[in-house]
Amino acid sequence: MKIESFFAGKWHAGRGNGQTLRNPVNQEVLGHVDATGIDVVGAFADARKAGVASLADLSFQQRGAILKSVADVLVKNRDRYNTIARLNSGNTARDASVDIDGGIGVLKFYARLAERLGSSKAILEPGQDLLAKEPAFFARHFWHTRPGVALQVNAYNFPSWGMWEKIAVALVAGVPSITKPASSTALLSYEMMRDVVAAFVLPEGSVALICGAGGPLIGCLTAMDSLAFTGSAQTALGLRGELNVLASGPRVTVETDSLNATIIGPDVQRDSAVFELAVSEIVKALSVKAGQFCTNIRRILVPEAVLPALQEAVAQKLTGLVVGDPADPDVKVGPLVNTKQRDTAIGGIEALSAEAKLVAGGTRPQSISEADWSRGAFVAPTLLRCDNPEKASSVHSIEVFGPCATLMPYRSLADVTSLAAAGGGSLVASVFSNDSKATAQIATGLAPWHGRLLLIDEEVGKNHTGHAIVMPQCVHGGPGRAGGGEEQGSLRALRFHMQRTAVQASASFLGGLGSEYAEITL
Ligand code: NAP
Repeated sequence: MKIESFFAGKWHAGRGNGQTLRNPVNQEVLGHVDATGIDVVGAFADARKAGVASLADLSFQQRGAILKSVADVLVKNRDRYNTIARLNSGNTARDASVDIDGGIGVLKFYARLAERLGSSKAILEPGQDLLAKEPAFFARHFWHTRPGVALQVNAYNFPSWGMWEKIAVALVAGVPSITKPASSTALLSYEMMRDVVAAFVLPEGSVALICGAGGPLIGCLTAMDSLAFTGSAQTALGLRGELNVLASGPRVTVETDSLNATIIGPDVQRDSAVFELAVSEIVKALSVKAGQFCTNIRRILVPEAVLPALQEAVAQKLTGLVVGDPADPDVKVGPLVNTKQRDTAIGGIEALSAEAKLVAGGTRPQSISEADWSRGAFVAPTLLRCDNPEKASSVHSIEVFGPCATLMPYRSLADVTSLAAAGGGSLVASVFSNDSKATAQIATGLAPWHGRLLLIDEEVGKNHTGHAIVMPQCVHGGPGRAGGGEEQGSLRALRFHMQRTAVQASASFLGGLGSEYAEITL
């Protein structure tokens, strides 16, 4: 099977052999993805002309209705997508749901938000500022759609959610998308897009899909375009530094890897409810999607006195996790996406082992259900302990993109901020504590270094959505090493695709414009 690209109303096959897609359990070949010779200039031209025009004709409400129709198409085919996610990404049913239902959920969420914006096509911020002594000259701030193309480059771990969360926001804003999934897991993005295209629910030119190596795409960006990149910090560095990006000035937002921390509060005692909540979240981090979440817990900061108990409790739960072929319903930890990622993760664990002791796991799982270690991309859920995190460096800098996290003791609340910040800026941190004063102090220290904070006490209990899960209501992104970008966050996400303009004019002119705009604070 050859995975193709879609733009200008047609499917296009690459001219080369491209990359082979395999089942990470047994290396069975699933297809080939290739973009050699694909006319990406033509894809941009169609998006600029047909896509910009067709979306400009639609109100926010109409764009929302399109997202709802896309979600409906995906819901109908959900079972097939689960199978693809298992075969191409090694997902268990739970892993697949995070990606597939997460993608459908974000489409429905933005459909509802757009519906509420009604028949307008642009946004007016509430309030006006008087600019002169006489009440005759005022300023108001407007947001208008940028007449460009949103290029969206995604990581391999979320071929559904990563694609739809970006398309959803751009489409509400009225900007056509060119989406590029990571090659290794492009099958799910491709099959989903095939279904959506066949259902004729997308306006002409509003969404294009490029499958295969994306090198020439960046060179097509111009001033009104944008690049939303999700992936490794290393790739991001190259793309941000491209001459065309620097010279033409498209908007760029970047979501990369980070060394997210969870913090066990100073009040937490062994076997308390909050202790159990923390254990459960750490075990999830070491099992769901085989740890391949950019937002996953990588560092566990624990008061020195509680560390042995936490270590024991987590290690004990890890022994009960079945690793293997996700076709077996008892399996809780599937393989990594491919053997290259497995070898990189194992290399990372070895590097961390120079500074940290292995507590559980390591490399090869003790037993693998229904699969063979030599052919499968399996990594055992791995827990390490670093006793001197203040002096260590690799535990704060190497992201093992798999089921791996490191325990580290802290001695004072001041240590918490400095240890968490040693990650150089992260997507998310969580705090498990019933001591609201300590939590507030920790959160104040962590906030500038993080895009999101999850604060769990007994009152929240099991009702929280999880450390790793990105909710569309909340901004996603983090400073520094995490890329410095921002996505999602309800309507805040529209800012990326719209231009805010201060308009200085008379009160009657400004007042006369109001009815054409949705009046909200972005
Ligand atoms: P990656 O190797 O950096 O690739 C990311 C994407 O960039 C892929 O689609 C890749 O395409 C594309 N790409 C590479 N070079 C390109 C170029 N010159 N022009 C255009 N596109 C190019 O990352 P990955 O291995 O897929 O993902 C794992 C990493 O992503 C982890 O470090 C993880 O933490 C991070 N991640 C971050 C987030 C977040 O929201 N912050 C979410 C998920 C993952 P090909 O696949 O075709 O090479």
